[in-house]
Amino acid sequence: MILSLENQVALVTGASSGLGYACADGLAAAGASVVVNYNSHAEPAEALAEKIRQRGGKAIALGADVSNEEEVEKLFAQTIEKFGALDILVANSGLQKDAPIGEMSLADWNKVLEVNLTGQFLCARAAIKQFRQQGAQRNVSRAAGKIIHMSSVHQVIPWAGHVNYAASKGGVDLLMRSLAQEIGEERIRVNSIAPGAIATAINAKSRDGEAGKNLLKLIPYGRIGEPEDVANAVVWLASDLSDYVHGTTLFVDGGMTLYPGFRDNG
Ligand code: NAD
Repeated sequence: MILSLENQVALVTGASSGLGYACADGLAAAGASVVVNYNSHAEPAEALAEKIRQRGGKAIALGADVSNEEEVEKLFAQTIEKFGALDILVANSGLQKDAPIGEMSLADWNKVLEVNLTGQFLCARAAIKQFRQQGAQRNVSRAAGKIIHMSSVHQVIPWAGHVNYAASKGGVDLLMRSLAQEIGEERIRVNSIAPGAIATAINAKSRDGEAGKNLLKLIPYGRIGEPEDVANAVVWLASDLSDYVHGTTLFVDGGMTLYPGFRDNG
């Protein structure tokens, strides 16, 4: 079977930068029409949509805050208005607001949970409603729809100084698996990607100097990931090549979850 997303429509949240940008680009290269969602930075999202169109693809940039119910509903309505259907959701938007527990404000706790977890819920719910509405008539993939949640290795690795972020990603894991259990028989596939350390704006500080050297010690495969490493996995998970993969998390982490601290301690 050839990997192709021809005639399919994909929506990627938080696609004006980092992993979302690479995923939108990769899905478009595989043939999907793509909605490039952004929150506050329209320009790079518009530029990506234009780049995709220039090479013969179909893309549009749409603004929406994924933690705002009304804006999410509007984002999905605009997607259907533009492309007539939805087949793939990559719920990618996320942020960090780090602080030791004694200094973490309620506002920063809430903000991270609202974007990283509630945002995933709102987008998944809107996608499922659309998949159901399209029903069996839409015959572009073996699945009736595909949802890919962007989680993190911190859905399993505890992270001191980042309790809001780790709690949000732990929540994404059970959101994903519960949804997969609930709607699998409708042939809607639900999975997560859990990236390790990938070179994007979210972790720019932890990749520099001494911090960068220490970070590498946590990665058995010996390199920081590139956004394309994640995008390639997303394209595969969105395609029929992974049709029997459902309710699982694909770790794209160079082995970060292999307890590398035990390497020399056996
Ligand atoms: P990034 O900061 O470049 O991207 C995050 C995106 O989310 C941005 O485009 C931002 O505009 C968007 N966003 C933030 N708040 C939003 C909101 N309210 N509504 C809509 N969009 C919003 O960082 P990234 O590394 O590309 O992160 C993407 C995802 O990958 C996040 O969920 C992050 O937790 C996850 N992740 C990243 C890494 C990594 O090493 N880079 C590792 C594990 C998980």
